[in-house]
Amino acid sequence: MSTQKVAIVTGAARGIGAATAQRLASDGMAVAVLDLNADSCQDTVDAITKAGGSAIAVGADVSDEAQVIDAVDTVTDKLGAPTVLVNNAGVLRDNLLFKMSVDDWDTVMGVHLRGAFLMSKTCQRHMVDAGWGRIVNLSSTSALGNRGQANYSAAKAGMQGFTKTLAIELGRFGVTANAIAPGFIQTDMTKATAERIGVPFDDFIKACADDTAVKIAGQPEDIANAVSFFAAEAARYVTGQVLYVAGKPMN
Ligand code: NAD
Repeated sequence: MSTQKVAIVTGAARGIGAATAQRLASDGMAVAVLDLNADSCQDTVDAITKAGGSAIAVGADVSDEAQVIDAVDTVTDKLGAPTVLVNNAGVLRDNLLFKMSVDDWDTVMGVHLRGAFLMSKTCQRHMVDAGWGRIVNLSSTSALGNRGQANYSAAKAGMQGFTKTLAIELGRFGVTANAIAPGFIQTDMTKATAERIGVPFDDFIKACADDTAVKIAGQPEDIANAVSFFAAEAARYVTGQVLYVAGKPMN
């Protein structure tokens, strides 16, 4: 029987999730590349298999309980029991509070918090059975507050409390839970933000890089590297932590 670990990365069709799926595959895991639509995952799956790794595409909306249960069952049947979970799927619905619709609030809560809850709840039983597991949740520097993001900052702060509680509950079963809070990362998500505020993406990238201590525009791989650390065997004593990966000190 194979001892290859099985990971699920949500929102892995593109951006940070795609880079993370590829990184975990190159670390030796079989990876379920999960996103809203299985077809959209194909590029990530192809990149992994081309590099000699093992991956499948899975379509599911992480905020839908039935779809999450189906997706985790599919992964278990096709790859094996998932013991590594990266809750990365995310959306923005930015607006100032007085203009923010209830739908925009609920959508953001649904994908980030409900989604991470459903995925973690569904996967934890496989981790507990195995006596080993790794959960990595994507928070954000916006958890510290950000204009126009009452919904997103509340969700990303919520991810931190959720992570710490999972760490406390699941530690005795060999399962760690940690959060990564990225600053600016160059992806389609931040491209959409630049478009929304009417700034050319290149100017936006430069301004974000200038605002860091290291004068670098963060790339998806910068986050994938941090996920790889938390998911590793060697990180067994690291749990309930929030790692800001933002090119500058954050608090
Ligand atoms: P992205 O928009 O490029 O990718 C997000 C992916 O999530 C998309 O492929 C999308 O289809 C998928 N997704 C959305 N809703 C989903 C759902 N209900 N079910 C399944 N999949 C769904 O975003 P990104 O920049 O790669 O961000 C990834 C994560 O990192 C998000 O949680 C985001 O909030 C967080 N983050 C990003 C940045 C940044 O600067 N890019 C900074 C901090 C945190």
